[in-house]
Amino acid sequence: MKDTLRHAGKRKQLVDVLIKKGIKNKTVLSAIEKIPRHLFMDSSFEDHAYQDKAFPIAADQTISQPYTVAFQTELLEIEKGDKVLEIGTGSGYQTAVLCEIGAKVYSIERQKELFKKTKLFLSKLGYRPKHLSFGDGYKGLKEHAPYNGIIVTAGAPFVPKPLLGQLQINGRLVIPVGEDVQIMTLFVRKSETEFEKREFGEFRFVPLLEDKN
Ligand code: SAH
Repeated sequence: MKDTLRHAGKRKQLVDVLIKKGIKNKTVLSAIEKIPRHLFMDSSFEDHAYQDKAFPIAADQTISQPYTVAFQTELLEIEKGDKVLEIGTGSGYQTAVLCEIGAKVYSIERQKELFKKTKLFLSKLGYRPKHLSFGDGYKGLKEHAPYNGIIVTAGAPFVPKPLLGQLQINGRLVIPVGEDVQIMTLFVRKSETEFEKREFGEFRFVPLLEDKN
């Protein structure tokens, strides 16, 4: 598959949909306008790739809905050069959005198949995250902490303590919390021990799963 002007036109329309739904951050919108989302999905979904919908990828997982990606990225409030940890690499689409913004991206995936496939794919597309890791996101990635932002892209039944601990002061954790339905939740680290918490409505994600090993 290739990226063509037709795809670019559909991306522009998707961006207009996201603006109508309330996304304002220009850097986030221009990342979405640039990234060939159809290449992150199975070719059978090509015609639907620029609808504002989630789609299945390998290993029973999904590529998140563009609105969700935009909403979470906007909440992170990251700038060029910031260090960001993503939990749930999946298709790599969210990883690409973070790279496009200029963040130093670290991402963890617990499914071996997806980890391998996405690592190869992102490098083919020319995206250079700092580090893609195969492992359990509940633990975060201590060796590269602290982070300016941490984004969890699967539904967490509870907030994993290590993630809060790996935030820099003023760092932001964006995490959907809940079992069947998740509440998008933002934690801002105010000091060594204090966190400010805000909630932003309901979303639906595949579950953040406990370590298999
Ligand atoms: N950011 C991805 C979303 C993929 S869906 C995208 O844009 O495509 C969520 C991903 O989280 C899945 O790939 C799933 O395998 C992964 N995941 C689930 N539990 C995990 C865990 N404990 N640690 C790391 N990744 C996990």
